[in-house]
Amino acid sequence: MSDRLFHFLFPEVCIVCGKLLMPFENGCCTACRNSFEAFSDCVEAGAVLMHSIESHFKGNCFFERAFCRYVFHRQSPLQKALHAMKYEGMYDLGVLFGRELGAWISDAVPPESIDCLVPVPLHRLKHIERSFNQAEKIALGMAETLQKPVRTDLLLRGRFTVSQTGLHVRARRRNLDGAFQTPLPDMPGRILLVDDVVTTGATVVAAAEALKRGGAASVSVAALALAAKE
Ligand SMILES: [Zn+2]
Repeated sequence: MSDRLFHFLFPEVCIVCGKLLMPFENGCCTACRNSFEAFSDCVEAGAVLMHSIESHFKGNCFFERAFCRYVFHRQSPLQKALHAMKYEGMYDLGVLFGRELGAWISDAVPPESIDCLVPVPLHRLKHIERSFNQAEKIALGMAETLQKPVRTDLLLRGRFTVSQTGLHVRARRRNLDGAFQTPLPDMPGRILLVDDVVTTGATVVAAAEALKRGGAASVSVAALALAAKE
């Protein structure tokens, strides 16, 4: 069957606006993608993410480098797309976003500065409920462009934490104390931690602390988006 005929018989629609997708579009139409608020410079975006995290944690520097592609606003087209990725099973979109984030990073840093990608893990129960981890899908897309392995065995989420939504920074940190474990004795030196959206940074900071306690020499962070202060 030709692509045109297939598209005619099984039309796909944009998960943000509901319009029919063109054959070259995937998940989300070009107009909606263009409406996402993207950073224009990788170094500047990293500095904004790093500063945002440090502002919540008294200037402590947890990350070697930081990378971020988008600014996340509530009720924005990007939120719709990420919601569809997380809760409506559109996990292919996570891989697409990951490829884009990987390309963005590979233009800015030498590949030898990263040994592996570690997605922020979901708790096992949440994983069962949602069937996949969105950070892992993003990391898989990034791995294609960065040519680095994704390691899901280095960082585990043990204690069940309540949702971070609605908690203040300090409560978020307390909620995550002891939440992450590193089960393996050997830890690669330079880790790139991957998450979908960073809000205060409490989750990625707790994960980075666990990785460092577990033997990582340096931890960098890559987030698809940084939540705007609203
Ligand atoms: Zn659209």
